[in-house]
Amino acid sequence: MKSVGINGYGTIGKRVADAVACQDDMKIVGVTKRTPDFEAKMAVEKGYDLYISAPEREGMFKEADIEISGTIDDLYDQLDIIVDCTPGGLGAKNKANIYEKKGIKAIFEGGEKHELIGKSFNSFTNYEDSLGADYVRVVSCNTTGLCRTLKPIDDLAGVKKVRAVMVRRGADPGQIKSGPINAIVPNPPTVPSHHGPDVQTVMYGLDITTMALLVPTTIMHQHNLMVELNKSVQVDDIINKLENTSRVLLLEAERGMGSTAQVMEYARDIGRPRGDLFEIAVWKESLNIVDNELFYMQAIHQESDVVPENVDAIRAMLELESDPAKSIEKTNKNMDIIG
Ligand code: NAD
Repeated sequence: MKSVGINGYGTIGKRVADAVACQDDMKIVGVTKRTPDFEAKMAVEKGYDLYISAPEREGMFKEADIEISGTIDDLYDQLDIIVDCTPGGLGAKNKANIYEKKGIKAIFEGGEKHELIGKSFNSFTNYEDSLGADYVRVVSCNTTGLCRTLKPIDDLAGVKKVRAVMVRRGADPGQIKSGPINAIVPNPPTVPSHHGPDVQTVMYGLDITTMALLVPTTIMHQHNLMVELNKSVQVDDIINKLENTSRVLLLEAERGMGSTAQVMEYARDIGRPRGDLFEIAVWKESLNIVDNELFYMQAIHQESDVVPENVDAIRAMLELESDPAKSIEKTNKNMDIIG
């Protein structure tokens, strides 16, 4: 049983904690918070040992009647690995200032720059490259979504070139200070966006160019992909491949799932914790091939799709499993992920 700590028990951190806690080869030994808010209180109520990442704030936790098990320094000694889920940019600083000095293995999230971490991870495209690694970045929610569907398509028909338009949610549901509220924002207004290069950190050499927009929604990202194929295949071949691909769901607009809102309603109906959807939802009707170019649309639940990948990354880095397919299957089974 390997010991895992979570630094930053926020949107991603609390989900990764729950995903680790339901595996049988790893356990959570502690999570960290800076602020004595409801998430801190709930972490303790769930049975996680809570450590404060800002020792000078101990009094604030006492005042809020939230029991702490110590400061983050007390947590480091107990760990086989830490998953750094602090806001983007902080992870790389923690790597240089703390983890490297203390010799602690660490996983970082998509808000960190690939170059500063040195290695990026996706369960399906480059798991083996992280076997035994000390520092690994799990790619962002959008990149994870692109990899989940492009990899099986590449395996089936060979991807010659990808062009994708990413429609991104303006904020997470709990964020009150981000937007836009009433605008469509080219983000960035230049082409390409960073998403294509980010995919190339885990799908080496892929020809992919992306552009991105921000829209006033909080619940999902939506991607529109145009993929030139090397091999001539039929739409049914693609459907069959994606239907048999782990962590991908083919959903039908005509069965009441014609929008991201309905996809999220589906996730709630199937009883997912927090209404999460760990799988990438592909609209079956959107799949079409014109002159050997495949078109499709997909939706990404940004708060949760990277969570199973974090579990697999732990297994690869701690060499608990060398076969990606076995890790993926184990993670899926323990998290009730379809496929
Ligand atoms: P978040 O703001 O929801 O959570 C961050 C947590 O870190 C909070 O608990 C916060 O209290 C804590 N924190 C803040 N400052 C800290 C500090 N100085 N030291 C320690 N902890 C501190 O952020 P998030 O959305 O969970 O993002 C975390 C990482 O995951 C980022 O790299 C982000 O880019 C990436 N990511 C986010 C999403 C998403 O949609 N939210 C999706 C994929 C990847």
